[in-house]
Amino acid sequence: MVQRLSQRVQQIAPSATMSVDAKTKALLQAGQPVVNMSVGEPDFDTPVAAAFAGVQAIVNGNTRYTAAAGTVELRRAIAEKLARENGLAYTPNQIVVSSGAKHTLYNIFMSILDPGDEVIVPAPYWVSYPEQIRLAGGVPVVVESDESTGFKMTPERLAAALTKKTKAVLLNSPNNPTGAVYNASELRALGDVLQNHDCLIVTDEIYEKLVYGVEYTSFAAACPDLMDRTLLVNGFSKAFAMTGWRLGYVACAEDLATAMASLQSHGTGSPSTMSQAAGLAAFAAFNSDVVSAFWRRRDVLVAGLRNIAGIECELPDGAFYVFPNVRAAFGRAYEGRVIGNALDYAEVLLEKHWVATVPGDAFGAPNNIRLSYATSLQNVEEALRRIQDFHRVLGF
Ligand code: PMP
Ligand code: GLU
Repeated sequence: MVQRLSQRVQQIAPSATMSVDAKTKALLQAGQPVVNMSVGEPDFDTPVAAAFAGVQAIVNGNTRYTAAAGTVELRRAIAEKLARENGLAYTPNQIVVSSGAKHTLYNIFMSILDPGDEVIVPAPYWVSYPEQIRLAGGVPVVVESDESTGFKMTPERLAAALTKKTKAVLLNSPNNPTGAVYNASELRALGDVLQNHDCLIVTDEIYEKLVYGVEYTSFAAACPDLMDRTLLVNGFSKAFAMTGWRLGYVACAEDLATAMASLQSHGTGSPSTMSQAAGLAAFAAFNSDVVSAFWRRRDVLVAGLRNIAGIECELPDGAFYVFPNVRAAFGRAYEGRVIGNALDYAEVLLEKHWVATVPGDAFGAPNNIRLSYATSLQNVEEALRRIQDFHRVLGF
């Protein structure tokens, strides 16, 4: 029989974050009392002004295709945002809007990679990067980091990973899954290494608004010399709680933007017209209460986890994830079942104590698990009680 699936899709695994979330939602629907700490999706509502602008677009008949790269109005508003908030000068022609930052990243890798091109991916990394790079024919080159450097890639490690085949370096700050935030001098130190290496820099800044007591710096603002080689990725999902609207964007050199718009014109055609109208209204509707709510949850969650024997937990500066180390539990038995790794740990925690988390293996960090605190403070507190019980059964 004919091989129905391409080699391309045969080599990818489904998104672990989305699979755990689907499994959790199925359990919840079946009436199980699961606390969902798995998916990275704000539990707040889209700002009313943005939602209303989307509805208005539909009702007013603003329901046709837009330019492939997105409406000029939205691209102008994004350029203004990048100037106002990040100190970066872009023209609307340097911006391409897509159906979510995930789609933006996909367009980027499809547009810049040839077979065999290497992309440096600092670990722990978000699940979709390596798969997207491979789908585009590229080779992800993982650079490890752990708690000893606050989960940040050091300039030395970056320098050691660069080769003649390095086409791009990926940066993600604030980071998913660790919450690590690179400060301006750390970005400059990485930029110094890249000065002498002619490659692109893809910087995923989708969590930029979610930082707690530290200043956020965009990579190109820290390293203006490298701006022409930088592809800045951002979107509306996290800052504006607009995950389902599917809206993200890239700002970069015009030749790259033109190529991506052309690719997109044959893929989705354009991003959703009503979502773009909503996004345009979102900029004026940012709700900073969301940041204080996340901040409070982070503090409660980290303090609680640090109180549980057998868990070590960094204090992340941003995003809405914590990434505790649970290695001490490996080798211990839970009612006769040995917890061999983070996958077993997360599975038993879900099945026996009803807390959904994502095992670190999916992020290239097998000693850790990820908990998202994009959920209520009550859920955070309940999850802590349950993890405490779980650890008691493990004999801590
Ligand atoms: N980058 C990172 C690091 C993320 O965590 C996410 C969340 N899914 C995305 C990009 C993509 O977000 P979206 O496609 O919803 O804009
Ligand atoms: N980025 C979120 C997460 O990591 C949403 C799911 C996804 O797109 O992977 O949980």
